[in-house]
Amino acid sequence: MMKTFKIGGVHPNDNKISRNCAIEVLPLPQTVFISMAQHLGAPAKPIVAVGDQVKAGQVIAEPGGFISAYVHSSVSGTVKSVAPRKDLSGNLMTHVEIAVEGDEWAEGIDLSDTLVTEIPTDKAETLKKIQMCGVVGLGGATFPAHVKLNPAPGCKAECLILNGAECEPFLTSDNRIMIEKSKEIVIGAAIMKMVLGGCPAVIGIEENKPEAISAMSKAVAELGYEGISVMKLKKKYPQGGEKQLINAVMKREVKSGGLPISVGAVVQNVATSLAVYEAVQKNKPLVTNTMTITGDCLPVEKQHNYLFRIGMPLSYIAEYAGGIPEGAAKIVSGGPMMGKAISNLDACTVKGSSSLLYLSEAFTKRKEASACIRCGKCADACPMGLEPFLLNKLAKNAMMDELEARSIQDCISCGCCQFTCPANIPLLDTINIAKGQVMGIMRARAAAAKAAAEAAKAAPQK
Ligand code: SF4
Ligand code: SF4
Repeated sequence: MMKTFKIGGVHPNDNKISRNCAIEVLPLPQTVFISMAQHLGAPAKPIVAVGDQVKAGQVIAEPGGFISAYVHSSVSGTVKSVAPRKDLSGNLMTHVEIAVEGDEWAEGIDLSDTLVTEIPTDKAETLKKIQMCGVVGLGGATFPAHVKLNPAPGCKAECLILNGAECEPFLTSDNRIMIEKSKEIVIGAAIMKMVLGGCPAVIGIEENKPEAISAMSKAVAELGYEGISVMKLKKKYPQGGEKQLINAVMKREVKSGGLPISVGAVVQNVATSLAVYEAVQKNKPLVTNTMTITGDCLPVEKQHNYLFRIGMPLSYIAEYAGGIPEGAAKIVSGGPMMGKAISNLDACTVKGSSSLLYLSEAFTKRKEASACIRCGKCADACPMGLEPFLLNKLAKNAMMDELEARSIQDCISCGCCQFTCPANIPLLDTINIAKGQVMGIMRARAAAAKAAAEAAKAAPQK
């Protein structure tokens, strides 16, 4: 029987319209704007100044903390400004503006297609390369890969899971890289497996990607590394959620507040595996990724999967792809379930960009909400075992302690509850806002406890 996660989940139409669109390389724009916040954690600190000449693949910013990442130029040219600029959500963040001149890459980067199959054996050196190349998780969280691949003392990786589920409707970039870069992804998996001490690696792919399953299985067989396998997963949203994937593959459950490594799992996206291959075997920093241009109001011939460079303005990509289609009521970055509405097309691509999704009014229009009929469908659909109808009620009454006691902090914002609610109640919006508030309270409490413990430690002993 095909594997999947145990609790909840929904079955939206997958709308993988662009599944057969081969990856095309986007031409270079005149200017790129490279954000210093392309990863989870502290923003990177720029090390270039106006007037500097840079090459593609050259470091332009250093990590701003332990959880942070290097940022590299994606183009060659001249630095025109280092200044705040609005990102995708409209927030101001420092960007390095570079006027594109030619396409010269930094020394030592191998841009050839020659496959390098020999797996390095030095763990520390390999982790350093992954860090120096600015590799972050490309499944959505953008957590620095070198940190995740180096579990704390006492934690042992028992399984590396490669996330090839791509369960969000419409998105097809992971599907395409699994078809077109299957060997590179498998070599990336073998490298991460070595770094983690040799645990088995499982590549989980949803059943609606038969070409990807076949290409990845063939690559695994041809490369012949030990302990790597492909697992066909049932199509069910959110199959690609980290905890859901672990449950499907390992039959283990990550407890509330726990990390995957607490059950011996390390999860990385297939695109991250490709980035690890390029970093370790080709010395190529993470300055490119693949994104899907799609949507229900976009004709099939205008759908694409593009290889983009970080810092390309979204407006440039939209224009190159044929312009914003008539009837687009909403433009989203990511999928329709968890993606972010784009308020600013002048924003630029970052390492984790995955799509430009054009949705029609018919697709996005919310029906009027009515009163909760206590059907319990939202609770049945919740993959985290929460009670969304109750969280919604508590949130409306600002009952923060109760929300925490009911584990609102475990919500993964998947939207299954809202998707399934027959009363059309905007559960996700309410829960998301309340979750942010509860997590803020939890963080402040933890910081206060830490400060009190440090003060007690520093106080003179009687
Ligand atoms: S959005 Fe949160 S509450 Fe709703 S189904 Fe997903 S995890 Fe559960
Ligand atoms: S699915 Fe909607 S109507 Fe049913 S219990 Fe949940 S909130 Fe109420």
